Amino acid sequence: MFELFENELNSLDDILDQVKNDSLGFLEKIHEKPTSIADQSVALPGLNAVGIGALASLDYFKQHYEKLMVASGGPRYWGFVTGGATPAAIAGDWLTAVYDQNTQSVQGEGDVSAILEQQTIRLLCELLHLPEDFQGGFVTGATMSNFTGLAVARQWAGEQSGRDISREGVGGQMVVMAATPHSSVVKSLSMLGIGSSNVIRIAALEGREAMDLADFERQLKACAGRPVIVNCSAGTVNTVDFDDIKAIVALKKRYNFWLHIDAAFGGFAACSPSYRHLLEGWEQADSITIDCHKWMNVPYDSAVSLVRKSHSRLQISTFQNSNAPYLGDPLDNFSYLNFLPENSRRFRALPAWFSLTAYGRNGFEWIVQNGIERAQEFGDYIETSEHFELLAPVRLNVVCFRLKSGVERMPEFLKKMNRRGKIFMTPTLLSGHSAMRAAFVNYRTGNQDILVAIREMEEALQGL
Ligand SMILES: *Cc1c(COP(=O)(O)O)cnc(C)c1O
Repeated sequence: MFELFENELNSLDDILDQVKNDSLGFLEKIHEKPTSIADQSVALPGLNAVGIGALASLDYFKQHYEKLMVASGGPRYWGFVTGGATPAAIAGDWLTAVYDQNTQSVQGEGDVSAILEQQTIRLLCELLHLPEDFQGGFVTGATMSNFTGLAVARQWAGEQSGRDISREGVGGQMVVMAATPHSSVVKSLSMLGIGSSNVIRIAALEGREAMDLADFERQLKACAGRPVIVNCSAGTVNTVDFDDIKAIVALKKRYNFWLHIDAAFGGFAACSPSYRHLLEGWEQADSITIDCHKWMNVPYDSAVSLVRKSHSRLQISTFQNSNAPYLGDPLDNFSYLNFLPENSRRFRALPAWFSLTAYGRNGFEWIVQNGIERAQEFGDYIETSEHFELLAPVRLNVVCFRLKSGVERMPEFLKKMNRRGKIFMTPTLLSGHSAMRAAFVNYRTGNQDILVAIREMEEALQGL
């Protein structure tokens, strides 16, 4: 063996000890670490001929880059929908690299990782009160999960018109409908060859982001029996508005459509007895997207794609790795290779398995309740503040708001506030108007963090 690798393996104990110490150094201080760093000037040297080894690389990284790592997993990073990482999830993620399984097949010889992935999906569905009607698999994020669900939907729509799209290509136009689709849904349509502009926008209810069902039904009628793919939001990223899933499902009896539910983070409302009703009927969906790196607090990147088992044949037609005959009949030999976009896959289920096993139903109910309470506290502040105004009621765990006056100063305000490095929020557009949002999904976020945020916001307002 090359001497360097021999030395590395001999000092594995020291290397992993150092990783552990560095990890502790970061995680124990995460609440004090900056949430953004303005000066990102770093040394970016070229490739060495002679490598410096893992321990020296750890030192180099610590010296040059570690201080530039932002506390996105900390308690006051409220931009996008950014979850943290619980200890069990970190353990699982670390071990994913250690075991380094290439998770594919559940049959025959080989490793058990695909069986444990299916078990993880089963536990997650149990947590979210979903029946065992779905074939699930791990993908990198809700974007890939939306892509996966919509890809099978596309195959379904083709079949309804007697075409095998996986072989023939998209050709004729697909009909896709949505009221307030996440940007990743639109991106998926572009990746799928359906075209990002080919979405029939269903009107939203007055002052809401949720679908106007009367308009939806009108559009369905206008399609005169053509297969339709419906993307349903549960909930939207700005105001966490939920389409009325139960009513949409009821329309399935009269109209021919595929129901895809994007429940990237809103799906975790199912953990809360008081909010579970928002998802009523979702077990009737054809496909569902759930992110694990948001409200589940599993580190990036992790999401689940659920597609109804009765559509497995369609899912295989879509993703079959058909030029690999050694795999056998994909209906007999379940392999993720034929069900999901990626072929080689890491054992991405492991951090989620560790989390579900470590914290159980009560742990996740607490995390969800915590996010809801923090959002309410922050929403209460915004509502009573003389400087800010709420743009939507706090429906779940996101607060969408803006400056009460001088809306044009909002980018400057956000920049100023974020640059202080104690709190991080992201800008957005709500019905075409500038807004800001704070998303509460990190299990570390406590009431004291709301107080820090309020102080930071008021200081950022000074001299604006
Ligand atoms: C975050 C999000 C996505 C995209 O998810 P990624 O994990 O970033 O790929 C899709 N839909 C909704 C509703 C989201 O909140």
